[in-house]
Amino acid sequence: PFDVLVVGGGPAGAAAAIYAARKGIRTGIAAERFGGQVLDTMAIENFISVKETEGPKLAAALEQHVREYEVDIMDLQRATRLVPAGADGLVEIGLENGASLRSRTVVLSTGARWRQMNVPGEDQYRNKGVAYCPHCDGPLFKGKRVAVIGGGNSGVEAAIDLAGIVAHVTLIEFDAQLRADEVLQRKLRSLGNVRVVTSAQTTEVLGDGSRVNGLVYRDRTGGDSHRVELEGVFVQIGLLPNTEWLKDVVALSPRGEIIVDDRGQTSLPGVFAAGDATTVPYKQIVIAMGDGSKAALSAFDHLIRTPVQ
Ligand code: FAD
Repeated sequence: PFDVLVVGGGPAGAAAAIYAARKGIRTGIAAERFGGQVLDTMAIENFISVKETEGPKLAAALEQHVREYEVDIMDLQRATRLVPAGADGLVEIGLENGASLRSRTVVLSTGARWRQMNVPGEDQYRNKGVAYCPHCDGPLFKGKRVAVIGGGNSGVEAAIDLAGIVAHVTLIEFDAQLRADEVLQRKLRSLGNVRVVTSAQTTEVLGDGSRVNGLVYRDRTGGDSHRVELEGVFVQIGLLPNTEWLKDVVALSPRGEIIVDDRGQTSLPGVFAAGDATTVPYKQIVIAMGDGSKAALSAFDHLIRTPVQ
């Protein structure tokens, strides 16, 4: 069995595997797709101390760094089952291929995925005007016109944030009213360069073949379609943690995030978690890496306090 088994190979998982392996303990990492969301990213300008990099480059560097250590890397492996430790003190992780792995501690770092609009143009112009993370990509739209899709807290926060950087923000909400907290709505309404459109369904992202140049929405009351000229579309209709497979065994928040304390401990002894899959606020690469390191150190601390069965 492993001492530390990491599930998920994004920034959080890679950091956890490196920190665990540096303790000289038996470390494994199983990931459906090594690199995680970073693989889907282009420009990264907030990975501190690296002025600018690209997603696939950072993903390759993550894997290279993990390979420097004695870590059993199981790529293209999807975990589907977690069985809490029994009398033998081993947690079991079942894989889609039928195999199962056993470990004295587990670090869950399965990340999250942005809910997509699923309209024509969204995939085609991803990273070419279609964005999901205002903290990451906001500055790339300095002085330009953007839309934010979604009038919940994250959409309205994004619109307020972006309004300070870009020339103009159109906030598009499907419902008849915004769902964000009143204090955020008040702040939003105080801004001069934001237009709010409610009862509107985005039906298409338009572009010139290489970049976004507009968006079409349908007015859900009148039924007619409108075109907005812009350079960017921020989709803020939800971040879904990859935790469906854990829902009956580990305590999750109402949003499906793994509940962790400030050491990355979950509701199960010996099971830790880190990164976008958890309740930790602000989903970012540097935050995921910090929390992955923290979870591995907590796992090590657990191991030295637990007698081997
Ligand atoms: P993830 O990166 O999501 O990795 C999850 C890992 O778990 C993957 O290896 C996945 O394959 C694996 N996995 C999932 N389910 C299972 C399972 N059941 N079994 C086994 N493995 C599983 N952040 C920044 O700081 N700066 C940026 O510029 C930036 N730009 C972004 C741009 C885009 C388009 C996107 C989508 C995100 C961006 N982010 C950015 C956010 C950043 O990518 C995430 O915060 C970060 O990747 C989270 O790391 P993580 O390790 O928690 O999860």
